[in-house]
Amino acid sequence: MTTVIAQLSACLSDRLIHFQTTEDWRDWKWQLKNSITDASELDFYDPVGEDEIQGMKLAERRYKMSVTPYYLSLADWNNPLDPIRLQCLPDSREVLYSCEDSSEDPLNEEMHMPIEGLVHKFRDRALVLTTNRCAVYCRHCNRKRYWSQSNRTQTNAIKRLEAIADYISRHHEIREVIFSGGDPLMLSDNMIEMMLGLFKKISHIEVMRIGSRVPVTLPMRITDRLCRILSRFRPLWFNTQFNHPAEITQEAQEACERLQCAGIPVSSQTVLLKGVNDNLETMKILLQGLQRIMVRPYYLFQCEPVKGVDHFRTDIKTGIDIMDNIWGETAGLCIPHLVSDMPEGKKRLVGRACC
Ligand code: SF4
Repeated sequence: MTTVIAQLSACLSDRLIHFQTTEDWRDWKWQLKNSITDASELDFYDPVGEDEIQGMKLAERRYKMSVTPYYLSLADWNNPLDPIRLQCLPDSREVLYSCEDSSEDPLNEEMHMPIEGLVHKFRDRALVLTTNRCAVYCRHCNRKRYWSQSNRTQTNAIKRLEAIADYISRHHEIREVIFSGGDPLMLSDNMIEMMLGLFKKISHIEVMRIGSRVPVTLPMRITDRLCRILSRFRPLWFNTQFNHPAEITQEAQEACERLQCAGIPVSSQTVLLKGVNDNLETMKILLQGLQRIMVRPYYLFQCEPVKGVDHFRTDIKTGIDIMDNIWGETAGLCIPHLVSDMPEGKKRLVGRACC
């Protein structure tokens, strides 16, 4: 821990990060309070060139930036193509590069929203968009369109959740509720407890699921208190998103362990991203690392045609080739399904990995 703080302090200088104690570093609220939200906060650091800063500023005017000191500390600052930097720092290509088939909402979620904040695309599952806040705004996010919406007040959020619960209670075909966002773990513990309690009461809801990237971007958010709350709402599944071996740190492993010890299984929905993990060796190390920390590699998602994300897309063949080769090289427990989300509300399994 001390080494990480020293390294980060060395690269970001105390002009930016005012380290107090190791306790601060381990405090998720401190991490959020000290997040880097403006590209110009990086301009003193030599390896980040002026062109790069200008590109970041251009992109962040449309798609905002926020990175926790923790996640930033995983980056290699001597490598401009570092996969952590690529995932969290704005890039001019987000506004300057676009493919013809990309759109703000390629999965047509807005069309499947019977009420605000609820996506009902799959007959037996409902997706609740809990908040538009995230610990880190991942540059490859498929809901970038939400980021700029003003934060909803907690009062409105409660009313909205009650309206969603009312809808779900009248739709008996729904057996599973998935909490996503944004990141649901950006809500307070009390709010999370209230939310899970609200949906747990609905008699035909058999299972709940949380989609959150905080084990990767803000692992200190997985506190003992939060785990105690979550454990009361089992069967509760937890999906996170590890995209690169550098994200499998001691802190991330311990966060996943706390969830597992609370009886909550953790899976990873990795996204195939150009320049981050689109080669056999990186993917193999990532998947084996996940198996080692007992996080199940669940899906490998083809990067979707989202505006502002096109520079991360690979062709379908890249994923198929990687998975074909991994099949021959590692155990089946490490193998996720390679899938592509479809606008009509289906998942298309791709290649041999789905058989
Ligand atoms: S944490 Fe999830 S929802 Fe938030 S920016 Fe990253 S990918 Fe998008």
